[in-house]
Amino acid sequence: MPRHRGVYKKENPEPYELSRSRIENFVKCPSCFYLVQVKGINFPSIPGFNINEATDILLKKDFDRYRGSKITHPYLVKQGMSHLVPYDHEHFELWTQSMHFGATDRMHIIHKETNLKIGGGLDDVWFNTKTNKLHIVDYKSTSQKSDKGPITLGDYYKDAYKRQMDLYIWIMRQKGFEVDDLGYFLYCDGDRFTETPFLGETKAIMEFKLSLIPYVANTWWIERTLKKIKEVLNSATCPDHSEYCEYGNFIKSLSEG
Ligand code: SF4
Repeated sequence: MPRHRGVYKKENPEPYELSRSRIENFVKCPSCFYLVQVKGINFPSIPGFNINEATDILLKKDFDRYRGSKITHPYLVKQGMSHLVPYDHEHFELWTQSMHFGATDRMHIIHKETNLKIGGGLDDVWFNTKTNKLHIVDYKSTSQKSDKGPITLGDYYKDAYKRQMDLYIWIMRQKGFEVDDLGYFLYCDGDRFTETPFLGETKAIMEFKLSLIPYVANTWWIERTLKKIKEVLNSATCPDHSEYCEYGNFIKSLSEG
């Protein structure tokens, strides 16, 4: 049977594929989610964040040097976390590829109750040699506009990052791995306040400050959200637009103008 993805078809018995970003769309606005997944309306795409992608690739490369080794990366040693070692698994590379739901051994599971296939792409996994559990790790990049100190997860928009971590921990547990509630965000903060020269003779080198932020996951919202998603997918009508949505109010004012 062909895969069930893109526009949802109620009569298709195959598990319907939903990435974590689609689930996030639902959490933010069920109406938007319905328009995309059920009505097939394509919203304008946003260009990728290539510098963020580059820092992800470089961090992974660095941690790959210690993957499965007895010693860990000097950064973790310096943080007093020499017991956290980049995890080596035969399918690790597949887990990092978010776009491929088809093959087995990827980072996805089928939620039987809703027949939804839920997946995503991990940045990293560290093995805790003290507890024998795994920690899910997510790399993030930014450049703070003020020199106000270490990065926190306090901003409202970072709730989406927390949900991402929750979901990945939940998926890996469903896949049978022993995963700790504690995940880590490794933040690279492009330092615009440094006195170190940026431009050299042939290349420019940017400095990044690093923050390793622990986060204790909450997975309680996931099952009930999947059930709500299934209800919305099977619904004949689009959920109401949020009265607080700035896009919705913008469109409304255009049509009234
Ligand atoms: S315009 Fe706003 S309320 Fe309407 S579907 Fe999009 S995000 Fe949701």
